[in-house]
Amino acid sequence: MTNKEIKIAWREYYGLDELDVQDRELAQAAIDATALSYAPYSGFNVGAAVLFEDGEIVKGANQENAAYPSGLCAERTALFYASASRPDKAMTAIAIAAGQNGKICDMPATPCGACRQVMAQYQTKSGRPMKVILVGEKLIWSFDKVDDLLPLIFDSI
Ligand SMILES: [Zn+2]
Repeated sequence: MTNKEIKIAWREYYGLDELDVQDRELAQAAIDATALSYAPYSGFNVGAAVLFEDGEIVKGANQENAAYPSGLCAERTALFYASASRPDKAMTAIAIAAGQNGKICDMPATPCGACRQVMAQYQTKSGRPMKVILVGEKLIWSFDKVDDLLPLIFDSI
């Protein structure tokens, strides 16, 4: 028997101004995308922005539905739109922000397990690490790859 351990490293920033230009643009796009949220039930507005290898950014936001399971998280809305509209372009990063009543939450919102799995698949499809930036008003976390948020990824490809 051997004991194993998984360590996760990430960077913590204390405001958008600490990010480099590209990360700041992506984080701001995620913040902007919270305004695209349709969340009449939770009032929790989540925005996501996906960066492609050529610098293009597409946005998504959570979409709720009266038949609750029919809704979808912001991350998957953005990722599915990104892949469906630009199937041949590699994704290199995703930023996520959440807010309520027009104000971004102080702490970063972390993606649910299903969204992490979908991120992992598009990271594999893109053939390179996908950076994950979780944006809060007072705290921003940046992970170099999806693996850091989903160790021992299920990947049957
Ligand atoms: Zn999710």
